[in-house]
Amino acid sequence: MLDQSIIEQLEALVGKENVLTGKVDLVAYSYDATADLPRQTPDVVVLPTSTEKVQEIVRLARRNNIAIYPRGAGTNLSGGTVPLKKGIVLSFQKMNQILDIDAANLTAVVQPGVVINALNTAVAEHGLIYPPDPGTVATATMGGSAAENSGGLRGLKYGVTKNYIMGMEVVLANGAKVRFGGKTVKNVTAYDFSNLFVGSEGTLGIITELTAKLIPAPKYRRTMMGVFKTLTDAGNAVAGIIAAQVIPATLEIMDRMTIKTVEDFANIGLPTDAEALLLIEVDGMSEDVVTTEADSVMRVVTENNGDLKAAESDQERDSLWTARRNALPALASLNNTVILEDATVPRSRITDMLIICQEIGKKYDLTLGTFGHAGDGNLHPTILCDKNNEEEMGRMHKAVDEIFKAALDFGGTLSGEHGIGVAKMKYLGDELGQSGVDLMALLKESLDPDFLLNPGKMVPVRGN
Ligand SMILES: Cc1cc2nc3c(=O)[nH]c(=O)nc-3n(C[C@H](O)[C@H](O)[C@H](O)COP(=O)(O)OP(=O)(O)OC[C@H]3O[C@@H](n4cnc5c(N)ncnc54)[C@H](O)[C@@H]3O)c2cc1C
Repeated sequence: MLDQSIIEQLEALVGKENVLTGKVDLVAYSYDATADLPRQTPDVVVLPTSTEKVQEIVRLARRNNIAIYPRGAGTNLSGGTVPLKKGIVLSFQKMNQILDIDAANLTAVVQPGVVINALNTAVAEHGLIYPPDPGTVATATMGGSAAENSGGLRGLKYGVTKNYIMGMEVVLANGAKVRFGGKTVKNVTAYDFSNLFVGSEGTLGIITELTAKLIPAPKYRRTMMGVFKTLTDAGNAVAGIIAAQVIPATLEIMDRMTIKTVEDFANIGLPTDAEALLLIEVDGMSEDVVTTEADSVMRVVTENNGDLKAAESDQERDSLWTARRNALPALASLNNTVILEDATVPRSRITDMLIICQEIGKKYDLTLGTFGHAGDGNLHPTILCDKNNEEEMGRMHKAVDEIFKAALDFGGTLSGEHGIGVAKMKYLGDELGQSGVDLMALLKESLDPDFLLNPGKMVPVRGN
C-alpha cells in the first residue's frame, strides 16, 4: 500500500483526474488479455499527459522504490502488463496524439497511446499504410505494440513492428529522456537503440514518442481460400507457395478444430469437413503482377490436392478475414480458459509442427486447435480448458512444455510475436542458454538497476 503522500504528489503532478485509486479501477488494471496468470491490483493507476510528466513520475517512483508498469491497451498475451509487485500502472490513454504525418518522408510521429487503426485511418488519405497488423489493431496501441514487437497478419511480406520504428523518445529508469533515430532512412549513429527498446516489453525504458515508417498502400489484391483434406497437404502448399517465389501479404492457416469452432461461432459458410484451410492474400501496385502471383498460388494449391476458392467481391473477402480474426474469440467461447501460444518454427517445419501439436493435444486429452500465420512459421496452438479443473490444468501445462520443446527442436523460437512477459520466462534459458540469459540480465541491470520498470517480466534474474 502506497503512502497517501505519494498519491498526493502524483495528483499534484498530473492532476487528480489522472490518478485512479478506486477499487473498481484498480481491479480493472489487475489483469490483461493473458489467461491463467495470477491477478494483482496496482496501488495506483496514473494517466500522464506528456513526456515531462512521465519523467516526473519515474523520478518520484525511483526516490520511493515503487515499481512502474507501462500499459497500452492491455491486449498482450504474455502477462506483460500485470502489476505483479503492485506500485504504479502507467496508462497511456491520454497520450494518444498523432503529432505529424509527413507524406514526403513517408513517416508519422505518434504518442504511445495512439491506436494502430487510428494511425492507419489518418494516413489512408495520403494513400499510405502502417503495415504491422496484429489481430487487435482496433484496440492495441503504438507504444504497446512497439514494446511487444508485434507481428500480425501481414508479417510475411511486410515484416513486423521492428521494421517500421525509425526513431523513439524514451524515458529511462533514472527519469532522463533520450531521443534517437528519426525521419532519415539511414541512420547508423550510435547503437541501434530503436531495436533495443522495440520488443523490450517495458523492462528497459518507457516509450513516450515513436517515429513510424509508412509505405504506399497496395492498389490491387486477390484473396483466396485453399481447402485441404490433410494437414500435410496444407503445410506442403505453404512451402510450395514460397518456393514458387510468391510472398503473399497474408498466408494464414486454420486446422479442423478451429474451422469448426469459427463456423459454429460466425456462420460464414466455412467447409467444416476440411482438415485445414489456408487463407491467402496477394497484393501489390501492379494488377499484372498480382494476377500472376494469384495464378501461381492457385496452381500450388491445386498441385497439393487443395480446392481453391477466390473471393469474388469485397464482401466475400471481408468474410474470409472475419473468419480469421474470429478464430481466437470463437475458440475462447468454448471454455473459460484459453491458453494461446505463439511458438514459431522455420517455414519448412510448419507441417511437422502442426502435426505434433495435434498429437500433443491427443496425448494429454485436451481440446487443442491450431491456427496462425503459417507463411512465417508462426502458429498459435490454442488449448481450451477449465481453470477450475486442477487435473486438466496440470495436463495443459505438460502439453505447453512439450509444444515449446518441439518448436525449439525444430529450430524455432518460444515466441514469434507475443513476447516473454511472465508466462514464458521459465523457458528462456532453453532457447538462449545461460550466457544469453546473463546478457539479458546485464542489460536489465545497467538500464534499470533497481528493477522498477515492469519487474517480474521477461528477464529471469534474481531481484527482478
Ligand atoms: C484476440 C487477440 C489477437 C492478437 N493478435 C495478435 C497478432 O496477430 N500479432 C501479434 O503480434 N499480437 C497479437 N495479439 C497480442 C497483442 O494484441 C499485441 O501484443 C499488441 O500489439 C499489444 O498492444 P497493447 O497496446 O495492448 O499493449 P499492452 O498489452 O498494453 O502492453 C504490451 C507490453 O508493452 C509494454 N508497454 C506498453 N506501453 C508501453 C510504453 N509506452 N513504453 C514501454 N512499454 C510499454 C507493457 O508493459 C507490456 O509489457 C493479439 C491479442 C489478442 C487478445
